[in-house]
Amino acid sequence: MAVVPRLFIDAALGKGAEIALEKDQAHYLVNVMRRKDGDPVRVFNGKDGEWRAEVAQATKRAATIKLAEQTRPQHAPPDLWLLFAPVKKSRTDFIVEKATELGAARIAPVFTRYTNSERVRMDRMEALAREAAEQTERLDLPDIAEARTLDQTLDGWDAARPLIYCDEGGEVPPMLKALGGLETGKLAVLIGPEGGFSEDERARLKSLDFVRPVSLGPRILRADTAAAAALALIQSAWGDWD
Ligand code: SAH
Repeated sequence: MAVVPRLFIDAALGKGAEIALEKDQAHYLVNVMRRKDGDPVRVFNGKDGEWRAEVAQATKRAATIKLAEQTRPQHAPPDLWLLFAPVKKSRTDFIVEKATELGAARIAPVFTRYTNSERVRMDRMEALAREAAEQTERLDLPDIAEARTLDQTLDGWDAARPLIYCDEGGEVPPMLKALGGLETGKLAVLIGPEGGFSEDERARLKSLDFVRPVSLGPRILRADTAAAAALALIQSAWGDWD
């Protein structure tokens, strides 16, 4: 049997519910995946766990699904945020997709002094995150935050959430050592742009008591590599992978 399609549905999920699919999802299911009435589908909505359903009333332009049973209970993902300075489009796409696969609860673009891309496409990031969440079998979607400057982000920061600041400048503890000292269920990681952080930004970050500068090793990683590496280290150290 071919792989059972898995879709994020923005509707309440309950036994016997019949849900009309959005146009693009109906098109994908019926015309791309060529699913017919009675074929199985897996759905999740970020709140009610994952459900087995079956296609109903499939036509070229529309389809509904009929829910059968819950196959996975809902559980909250680790409360881990990724803040990153947007880089060129393909690499920003990569960051959004990998952060979703690695379980980030929030993905927040942050404009810094040397950020070299002047705008980010929220709709593009949301679409990438949704596809990645469906593929990676998450039970929720990451929250895609509005783009803000580093100063705006730091000004309004909840000091109860430590901010791991990945600093390629050296003389800072390695990630695992920095994590060792943190007793918390919530965390954020900050990755800079291709040009790195400015001296002012470094000084401001190091002056904040909720900030933990960390090293990701002796080599200079591209921002997209650094984002994936940092999240992987944290998820593994925090037990998300146990
Ligand atoms: N300023 C650097 C490049 C920055 S790399 C230069 O031009 O040499 C982009 C971002 O990835 C950095 O701002 C940092 O957040 C992260 N990063 C890359 N390598 C790192 C390392 N070895 N340790 C910690 N962070 C790193």
